[in-house]
Amino acid sequence: MAVSFTELATPGVRNLRPYVPGKPIAELEREYGVRDVIKLASNENPLGPSPRALKAVQQSLSQLARYPDGAGFDLRVALAQRHGVTPDQVTLGNGSNDLLELITRAFVTPQHEVVFSAHAFAVYPIVTQAVGAAARVTAVHNWGHDLNAMQALINERSRVVFIANPNNPTGTWLAGPALEVFLQTVPSSVLVVVDEAYFEYARDAAADYPDASLWLARFPNLIVTRTFSKAYGLAGLRAGYALSQPEVAGMLDRVRQPFNVNSLAQAAALAALEDREHLARSLACNRDGMLQLTSAFTALGLAYIPSAGNFVCVDVACDAAAVYEALLYEGVIVRPVANYGMPRHLRVTVGLPEENARFIAALKKVTSSKLQAAR
Ligand SMILES: *Cc1c(COP(=O)(O)O)cnc(C)c1O
Repeated sequence: MAVSFTELATPGVRNLRPYVPGKPIAELEREYGVRDVIKLASNENPLGPSPRALKAVQQSLSQLARYPDGAGFDLRVALAQRHGVTPDQVTLGNGSNDLLELITRAFVTPQHEVVFSAHAFAVYPIVTQAVGAAARVTAVHNWGHDLNAMQALINERSRVVFIANPNNPTGTWLAGPALEVFLQTVPSSVLVVVDEAYFEYARDAAADYPDASLWLARFPNLIVTRTFSKAYGLAGLRAGYALSQPEVAGMLDRVRQPFNVNSLAQAAALAALEDREHLARSLACNRDGMLQLTSAFTALGLAYIPSAGNFVCVDVACDAAAVYEALLYEGVIVRPVANYGMPRHLRVTVGLPEENARFIAALKKVTSSKLQAAR
């Protein structure tokens, strides 16, 4: 009798649907035989990392035989200084993804519930189900988090609430006062994770966007996550961090792999943090690119969801899967979001001006032939 290893897996894992990443450029070139592919699908910084980060990586190469600093001392001290907290409030992660997983592993059992919103980051259901906990998912309000609905789902079984601010894939954001009131209503035995992966962009885009890290002293159950993958342009190296009370950080530290952040990532993140000019350039590039994209959508008569991130969801007014496919043949990779329950939208990352222009031209071509076919 053949063993079914699927049956042997824990119930949560057995029923998991794996995360679907954006299509890699090399895969598209291989499978579709197209050249000059541009990828606007994973919210990476089109300018790449800070030159200082690259230099730091090069300098670290000679030490590759050594294990990294498992405590991430220098980076944690720098981050603590930046945020006005103590280093024991900083937990480093292999991307902030790692931290989301550490949080459920440290605090959530199959008896617990985890609250998050529909159309929120795909990793929340994965880390919830992986530990066998129940997900309680609220409907969206204007494509954004409905905090009243989230509050209504919190009960004695709730252990973690995940809030992406701004949200991915919708780009919607919560204003400071609303989020603050919500935090006041949540019992302190329920951890609230405010995922600020796009913090730098959102700060630049929306005057009412709050820095949740400033509330750490007031809300002991608050965990704020940040990443070097987005505005800092280091997605390939995997570095993120969480800010929390020292006691919470201590629990995350217990389940963390001893060397979860590699030495190149630590060195690059430290250097990237110091390079404010590169960050400013990246934000300016995003501001201009967002305007370029959204003006084109308006000109094409396509609705979009206003976004505080470095990406935007456009309603292509038909089955987005077909438009996504047609764009692939044009050598343009964007992100279908049907798996997020948004079958008519495509999420596009703001790229360089010429990349945005190529996407817009391809979208125009593809959607106009679609419209003709529909007539
Ligand atoms: C991209 C993203 C992350 C994490 O990315 P890492 O590369 O793992 O740091 C976390 N949350 C949201 C909402 C994201 O979009």
